[in-house]
Amino acid sequence: MTYLDNAATTFPKPECVYREMDDISRNYAVNAGRGSYKAAQKAVKVIDDTRAALLKLFNAEGIADVVLTASVTQALNIVLAGLGLKEGSMVYISPYEHNAVVRTLHMLQKEAGFTVKEMPLTKGLEIDLGRLEFEFAQNHPSVVVSTAVSNVTGYVLPIGDIFQSAKKYDAVTITDAAQAAGLIKMDVRDLKADILCFAGHKTLYGPFGIAGFVMKKDVELKQTFAGGTGSHSLSPEMPQNAPERFEAGSCNIVAVKGLYAALGALEQEEHYRKIKEITEYAINALEVVPGISILGRTKGQLGIISFVADGYSSDEIGKILDEEYDIAVRTGYHCAPLIHKHLKDEPYEGTVRIGLGYFNTEENIDKLAEALISL
Ligand code: PLP
Repeated sequence: MTYLDNAATTFPKPECVYREMDDISRNYAVNAGRGSYKAAQKAVKVIDDTRAALLKLFNAEGIADVVLTASVTQALNIVLAGLGLKEGSMVYISPYEHNAVVRTLHMLQKEAGFTVKEMPLTKGLEIDLGRLEFEFAQNHPSVVVSTAVSNVTGYVLPIGDIFQSAKKYDAVTITDAAQAAGLIKMDVRDLKADILCFAGHKTLYGPFGIAGFVMKKDVELKQTFAGGTGSHSLSPEMPQNAPERFEAGSCNIVAVKGLYAALGALEQEEHYRKIKEITEYAINALEVVPGISILGRTKGQLGIISFVADGYSSDEIGKILDEEYDIAVRTGYHCAPLIHKHLKDEPYEGTVRIGLGYFNTEENIDKLAEALISL
């Protein structure tokens, strides 16, 4: 298989991820924080080391906590529900948000009746920072949510600039770094991000089942679910300290160990260089294929390309690529409903999306281009 669906999940993972997950599964995959025997202590150390590695990656040491969750969708639900949004709250989101943000806010909005506004875009589908500043001044933001890299077009959003403007009004700033963590520099201090949500299984090259959020210590977030934490067990109250107060339930220690191994193998600058290079190679290769149009192109676009083909629906292209060439891509609407309106891709029933990963080669792209030329 030629795997070009790395935006859905990166595959394969670095060898050490498989090795370490196998090792812990066989030797000490016990319930961390629930027992004081040696294997349980070893499991706790894996979690502590992973939190430390994540704090380092996001330059958040000393100012933030790392909350571990099963998925970034769960992380965004905990974060958005915990903000206590109410009537009068003004939430700005980028038009590139994933349904993990869009649907979650929609669900909460039905209860609480706050306002959600989409940030304005330029004709080139980039965030219009001038107009955004104006809108912030007219309707002060309470919360600003922006994905760091679009999972549909690979657009790298100017989250540092967006959050800088939002901070003039003391808004809580949240980034969904599912497609960015480990790929671009995500420094929560520089970016003025209060909360950064990450997915272990995407650009961090960890396994499924582990994700979370890094949250600055001065952010107020209420808990929205409760359960066992292995501490203060006689009390009906959840422990009040972070991250425990957001982490009820047993931890997926095997996945944490996989993520820890992936973080150890990660070299963010080299990763960025490689993905930038192969993205440019792929854009150049696709641009010259007759009948193919790349949608939503932006300067600096990274790792993800959406395109359509004259005379075909996106699903038809996906099927041909799979059945005749064994090339795996994603087709349709990529769980990011707002941006598809701007891409005007309805006649094609969405786009064909390629997601490039560290292990892709120029030969993979040549194979895709040749397949598309033969359509
Ligand atoms: N946010 C973005 C930007 C994504 O690309 C995705 C997955 O495609 C998600 C959130 C949700 O990830 P998960 O399904 O792993 O929770």
